[in-house]
Amino acid sequence: MSIRKNYCSSCGAKVRKDDEICPSCGKPINDEMLYGNTRRIGAGGIGYSEITDHESFKAYKKFTGKIWAISIPVITIIVILASMFTGAGLTVGLLAGVVVFIIMLIVGLMIGRKKPGWDGTVIRKSYHRRRRDDGADDDTYTIFFRTDSGKKKSQVWKSHSGIYDYLQEGDRVRFLGNLGTQYAYEKYDKSEDDRIPCAACGTMMDPRYDYCTVCGCILLKGKTEA
Ligand SMILES: [Zn+2]
Ligand SMILES: [Zn+2]
Repeated sequence: MSIRKNYCSSCGAKVRKDDEICPSCGKPINDEMLYGNTRRIGAGGIGYSEITDHESFKAYKKFTGKIWAISIPVITIIVILASMFTGAGLTVGLLAGVVVFIIMLIVGLMIGRKKPGWDGTVIRKSYHRRRRDDGADDDTYTIFFRTDSGKKKSQVWKSHSGIYDYLQEGDRVRFLGNLGTQYAYEKYDKSEDDRIPCAACGTMMDPRYDYCTVCGCILLKGKTEA
């Protein structure tokens, strides 16, 4: 049994719940029909994928950018109205609105900015659980890297992500700065992988897929031909 796909694993087009074949490329949606006895392990290749400017990544960035562009003014207005209705008055409401607007704008610009990419190696992984005052747990998953030019890098995830388990000490990895997501890491050797991560949304995917079935972005599979 396979999980329902939102996007076609062969071409990345959006598919509907009841589609049996992709309306765009005509390939079956069902994994058994599509891949038959093709093994998962070995479907990912060795080497870095030179497709990081792929149009599906550009569309993904545009989409996430749009969400920010819409949510910033909407949340600002909600803050202003909420302050007024709780009796804080128009001046306080407007001030709160301006503060929220500026903070969200800065965060949005920081997330969206292009970061420099690099090649490196996983040197250490660490997991921390801290009990907060309100009793809830704060989990921190961190991977430390050393780049080929000797710089130290790290990536922190605030909740468990498949890619934290996926990357192991000693793995050669590339960080795709132009994508800049917290999942934008490609392992050099994917030939023994049972699952590979989507660099855009972080979901672990069947390495036989060409596209992520959750977000429609192309998967980084390296060079699969000998
Ligand atoms: Zn398709
Ligand atoms: Zn994805």
